[in-house]
Amino acid sequence: MDRLGPFGNDSGDKPPCKGCSSYLSEPYIKCAECGPSPFLICLQCFTRGFEYKKHQSDHKYEIMTSDFPVLEPGWTAQEEMALLEAVMDCGFGNWQDVAYQMRTKTKEEFSKKLKTHTLQIQQFHLSPQMTTSSHL
Ligand SMILES: [Zn+2]
Ligand SMILES: [Zn+2]
Repeated sequence: MDRLGPFGNDSGDKPPCKGCSSYLSEPYIKCAECGPSPFLICLQCFTRGFEYKKHQSDHKYEIMTSDFPVLEPGWTAQEEMALLEAVMDCGFGNWQDVAYQMRTKTKEEFSKKLKTHTLQIQQFHLSPQMTTSSHL
């Protein structure tokens, strides 16, 4: 599986986020139930439970990510899904709770992976509410 392709498509080949109109950067969310034109929202709007017209926050969704440099190659799509679901439950930026939730669902080894991973996401999104409670 080659997920680390070139990260070069940075011009408008994607529509903006339906929620906040910002440029969609991967990974973003595509609703699997709305159509025929793709319903795309960014992760932040997704974790806020954004709804628009027919789209409900409990719709099925796909995570659109072909080039996502913060992901470690060892991550499976299933792990990414689990992470995003935890993020959705706990709130974007609430990494301690997210990590806790992941720990209750998954193996210890995975939570170690998660720690590194969320730190990378923190840097990636530059969220103001991040805390650096992890010792690296
Ligand atoms: Zn958005
Ligand atoms: Zn939908």
